[in-house]
Amino acid sequence: MSAEKRPGKALVIGAGLAGLSAAHRLSRQGWEVTVLEKEQQVGGRCRSLRDGGFTFDTGAQHIRDSYDSALKTAIEVGLGAELRIPEEEKGVFRGGGVHAFHSRSTNPAKLVPWGALGLRGGLGFAAASAPLARRYRSYNVRFPEWWRGGDGSTAAEFISRRGAGGRYAGFASAVSRYGLGAEPEEVSAAAYLAAVRFTLADRTGSFTGGMGSLARAIAARLDVRLSTAVEEVVVENGRATGVRARPSDGGRSRLHRAGLVVCAAPAAAAMEVAPGMCDVARGIAAGTLYAPGIVVNLGFDGAAGGAPGPVLIEPREGFRSSWMCSSGSKTAEYAPAGGSVVTVVFCGASARGMLASDEASALAGAVDEAARLYRVGGSAPSASRVHFHALAKPVAAPGHARRVRELRSAGSGIPGLVLAGDWTSSPTVEGAVRSGLLAADLAGNAPGG
Ligand SMILES: Cc1cc2nc3c(=O)[nH]c(=O)nc-3n(C[C@H](O)[C@H](O)[C@H](O)COP(=O)(O)OP(=O)(O)OC[C@H]3O[C@@H](n4cnc5c(N)ncnc54)[C@H](O)[C@@H]3O)c2cc1C
Repeated sequence: MSAEKRPGKALVIGAGLAGLSAAHRLSRQGWEVTVLEKEQQVGGRCRSLRDGGFTFDTGAQHIRDSYDSALKTAIEVGLGAELRIPEEEKGVFRGGGVHAFHSRSTNPAKLVPWGALGLRGGLGFAAASAPLARRYRSYNVRFPEWWRGGDGSTAAEFISRRGAGGRYAGFASAVSRYGLGAEPEEVSAAAYLAAVRFTLADRTGSFTGGMGSLARAIAARLDVRLSTAVEEVVVENGRATGVRARPSDGGRSRLHRAGLVVCAAPAAAAMEVAPGMCDVARGIAAGTLYAPGIVVNLGFDGAAGGAPGPVLIEPREGFRSSWMCSSGSKTAEYAPAGGSVVTVVFCGASARGMLASDEASALAGAVDEAARLYRVGGSAPSASRVHFHALAKPVAAPGHARRVRELRSAGSGIPGLVLAGDWTSSPTVEGAVRSGLLAADLAGNAPGG
């Protein structure tokens, strides 16, 4: 860090995982950091709530064992002992039943659920993956490499070019919805291949207390002002010198001054608070589309039975949901002794179609679908919650990796203002955390920082 960029006061907009991770690293670098969050709680799209003794994750459902930045950050903030990554099987629902497969992180051939795909599906998978296998000798590659290859076309084009339609296409849809929350027609081939990797290879888990524990633990060490909505980044003499923020429930706006501002709000909010960003940053923010997602959590007094890991559902099976999981894939602590939590997730086209529906019908649909997958004794859930996310995950459409690289080199265009958030990285918990850590590291020398 250059002499004139010595740590001073820093403001972070947004207490999602990106903003909190940025604040965490900045404060370790010696900055005096304040985080401003418009909601009454931290965590953004990665929160948990307690209801009748059950823990429900309202947005993000799983961390994965490849999430280096998120896992390291969790350990740094004292969550090491709370991490739970069970050795559970994942499954694909096909032909009226769940075909289980094990997550492994080594030999790619062993990762593929051959039995679930059947002969034709297996041949389709091999055809679609051959170029990848040639390109990456080692399966255990990092995200950036995957995002670069195949960034120019959609997953659907990639699959049909390889002549691997038919049965494999159903599996591809399930993976795309599970990993990226969107259809193969919407996401790039590279993003889809990354999703194949973490669907098949990574083990999934959570924390005692739910996914929201991560945000809560990071925030516990920081100065976070809740219910404080930032209205604008203040720019004086071409440099960000603070923000103007107002209590979310009304009241007077106030000027907060700082030598550094990190904006870790979703793309549309970033454009609103910092309209003076450079053309590249504004163009990328304006072009960021989000896929919807609906999460229905069901708490049962009895055991769920059935596959404990996440179960991907092929669209043709007559479900509206894209995947389900039970507390078995997270931690036993999600339910009181003897009970279970089943989470039903709607993504992609079916979530888009359901956004206008009410909570009661989403709940009724989820209960029916859960009963097809889990033995919950025909009982009604003793607790339940429905969460509609119109903007669940930024769509990793073709060109996403290129746009991320362009944004990284252009910066915000406003000295003193650095951007973060999953839309500047990848649409996951790991992407959000990594973007925050990177923003903090860039703060000393980025063009916009
Ligand atoms: C249904 C669903 C399921 C998912 N499943 C998974 C999963 O299993 N695994 C996975 O890795 N990822 C998953 N994700 C994605 C993951 O949750 C997100 O990528 C990640 O949480 C985004 O973090 P973020 O900090 O970038 O944004 P956010 O979490 O959206 O945080 C932004 C914060 O900024 C605040 N804010 C906005 N505007 C202002 C303003 N003007 N002033 C002050 N504050 C402001 C917001 O209130 C919010 O708290 C899922 C997401 C959803 C919705």
